[in-house]
Amino acid sequence: LSEKEEAVLETIDEENIDFLRLQFTDILGTVKNVSVPARQAEKAFTEGIYFDGSSINGFVRIQESDMRLDPDPETFAVLPWRSKEDGGAARLICDVIDTSTGEPFSGDPRGVLKHAIERADDLGYTVNAAPEPEFFLFEEDEEGRATTKTNDAGGYFDLAPKDLAQDVRRDIIFGLESMGFEIEASHHEVAQGQHEINFTYDDALSTADNVATFRSVVRAIAAEHDLHATFMPKPIARINGSGMHTHFSLFQDGENAFHDDDDEFNLSETAKQFTAGILEHAPAIAAVANPTVNSYKRLVPGYEAPVYVAWSDRNRSALIRKPAARVPAASRIEARFPDPSCNPYLAFAALIHAGLDGIEQGMECDDPVRENIYEFDEAKREEYGIDTLPTNLGEALDALEADEVVQDALGEHVTEKFLEAKRSEFNDYRVSVSEWEKDRYLETF
Ligand code: GLU
Ligand code: MG
Ligand code: MG
Repeated sequence: LSEKEEAVLETIDEENIDFLRLQFTDILGTVKNVSVPARQAEKAFTEGIYFDGSSINGFVRIQESDMRLDPDPETFAVLPWRSKEDGGAARLICDVIDTSTGEPFSGDPRGVLKHAIERADDLGYTVNAAPEPEFFLFEEDEEGRATTKTNDAGGYFDLAPKDLAQDVRRDIIFGLESMGFEIEASHHEVAQGQHEINFTYDDALSTADNVATFRSVVRAIAAEHDLHATFMPKPIARINGSGMHTHFSLFQDGENAFHDDDDEFNLSETAKQFTAGILEHAPAIAAVANPTVNSYKRLVPGYEAPVYVAWSDRNRSALIRKPAARVPAASRIEARFPDPSCNPYLAFAALIHAGLDGIEQGMECDDPVRENIYEFDEAKREEYGIDTLPTNLGEALDALEADEVVQDALGEHVTEKFLEAKRSEFNDYRVSVSEWEKDRYLETF
């Protein structure tokens, strides 16, 4: 066993952990768990844990279903919402191995991201990422089902309901910190009932692991307060939706390769090429960064979510923003289109490959757009050469189907399974009839 693995075994002992949740995600980003008694930890590290992959979305066909989970000891964390007295639980995030070849399984999203990170590594870069996930806290109805009633919509009784939201957020933050998260900031977002919690940047793999963990922790702790936390991008029409802006920078030999003192925006040529790569492939990336029907209800003008494919050093209507940085190490770009319904592994992989493609091709960035692009008409957008993001999931899937760079980022297996699952999701939506349509047409015609 490695030193880290030994340390995990010790903690399991000290903390009285009974169960280990071996965690991975399916292609759609749903966290899956295989629970094993903690005494199997050593075996899990030395031999891995075998499971049947055929029941997992987008994994394998029935006849080749034996998969192995190899836990990553770096990801060990005790779950904060289980009391130690009843026997604690801890989780380990795993890599999925195809037992027929002994190689990383090509349908494992974590493996897909590792691949992107390796490509960056080959070019001499470490990728750092920091996400800003937003979410809503809603009340549950008598049967415990989620409503879209916000718990701090009090108005006349402002104080009490507002405090409740703060309590929940504080508990969430304590829970996350106990699992090793470094929380940078947390605040109430623009919309009622909407919150944002930012955590410190880390390497892209740890950050994707963190996002997956974050969503389960937020939901579990909200549920303890009888609230439903949702990462649905646009739960309520005509108010702000929830994004998951993600900040990226590349480091080379310990220095921030995105920083340049002499540049007007303090951005290096590398940063601009990376940005140009993301802009170039944005419509296809959207298929993974904005992977639900509902994602496209967020990407409309007027709610601080991007719609147009451009970058800016100040404007929040742009797809990529250059945030102000206090120190050179903090120079970075902020991709504003991802939303928290995405599979973070796949979304980051697509963004990183697109950015690296920009670097390898030496792509050039146009000047930043400083005006509010929401207010541009079509003629003005044309004059500036600004494209629009896909307006629905179907268009995004078309873009993915036409983009080889993003398909390569995902790999053949994931691309095929992803397109299949998402086409079917979109078709299901297309044939359904919404409340809006009934309100609008039922009595008119
Ligand atoms: N909620 C906005 C979005 O959908 C972002 C607001 C902000 O700038 O933090 O992206
Ligand atoms: Mg925000
Ligand atoms: Mg932001």
